[in-house]
Amino acid sequence: MTPKKEEESNDIPEIICDTKNNRSYQRLRYCGKGGFGTCYEIRDTATNKIWAGKILSKKVLARSSQRRRISQEVKIHRSLQHRHVVGFHSAFEDSKYVYIVLEMCKCRSMLELHIRRNTITVPESRYFIHQIFLGVRYLHSKRIIHRDLKPGNIFLDHDLQVKIGDFGLATRFNYDDDRRQRYCGTPNYMAPEILTLEGHSYKADIWSLGIPSSLHQHAASLISLQLQLSPRRRPSVDKLLKHEFLICGNKPTSLPLSCLYTAPRTD
Ligand code: ADP
Repeated sequence: MTPKKEEESNDIPEIICDTKNNRSYQRLRYCGKGGFGTCYEIRDTATNKIWAGKILSKKVLARSSQRRRISQEVKIHRSLQHRHVVGFHSAFEDSKYVYIVLEMCKCRSMLELHIRRNTITVPESRYFIHQIFLGVRYLHSKRIIHRDLKPGNIFLDHDLQVKIGDFGLATRFNYDDDRRQRYCGTPNYMAPEILTLEGHSYKADIWSLGIPSSLHQHAASLISLQLQLSPRRRPSVDKLLKHEFLICGNKPTSLPLSCLYTAPRTD
C-alpha cells in the first residue's frame, strides 16, 4: 500500500457495521479509487460472501450536487436486476461514510483489459459486445439511460461475464419520448447531442458504445451505424443485436480467464 492509500484507509473501519440490517463486513483488499470514493473487497462476517464495498467520505460529499448524484445512483441501481448489470446488495451510512455494497467483479473492468491486451480478437469482441448490448437493452427497457458507458464502467466478474456498473450519471425517464438537457458524461464518449445541449435520450448510450479505440474491418459497419450524428438514425440496441457482425461468425458463449492477458489461440 502506498502511504497515501494507507492514510486514507486508516480512518475507514476494519469492521463495517450496517446497524439497521444487523450485518457487518470485514474490510479486505483495496480495489481502486474513483472520483468520489474508494472501493474495497469486503466480506460479510455472517455468510463469508465477498462483496465490493464502495466507500464514500461524507466530507467529500459535502456539496449538495454530489449528495444528489449518490442518492440518484443508489435509487436507480437498487431497482436493477440483470445478469449483465452489477448486482446491487445494499447501501447504508455511519457518521463519516456512505457504503454501497455491490456484486464483486473480480476481473475488474474492460479498461484494465484494454490496457493489458490493447486489441482483442473478433470472436472476443462479439462475445463482449453481445453481453454489453443485452445489459443496455435491459436498462433502456426500464427507461434508464446510463450516460457514462465507457470501458471503466463495464465490469467483468470472476467468469468474464460482462456487468455494467456505475450509475452515477444515469437518469430514468418518466415516459419514452422524454429528453434531458444536462451536460454530462466522459468527454471522449459523449454523444454530439449532449455536447450541443439540444436534448438527449437513449441514443446517447448507443453513441458511447460505438467508440472503440481500434477498429476491425468487420465491426466497421456496426460502429458506423452507432456513430451517426442524428440520434434518430442511430439504431436501438434491439436492432444492433440483430446486426450481421453479431449473428454471423464465431461468438463464444464463454471465454477462458487467460483472455485477460493474452489472445486465445484460435480466431
Ligand atoms: P467512480 O464512481 O468514481 O467511477 P468507483 O467508486 O465506481 O469510481 O470505482 C472505484 C474503483 O473501484 C475502480 O477502480 C473500479 O474498477 C473499482 N470497482 C468499482 N465497482 C466495483 C465492483 N463492483 N467490483 C470490483 N471493482 C469495482
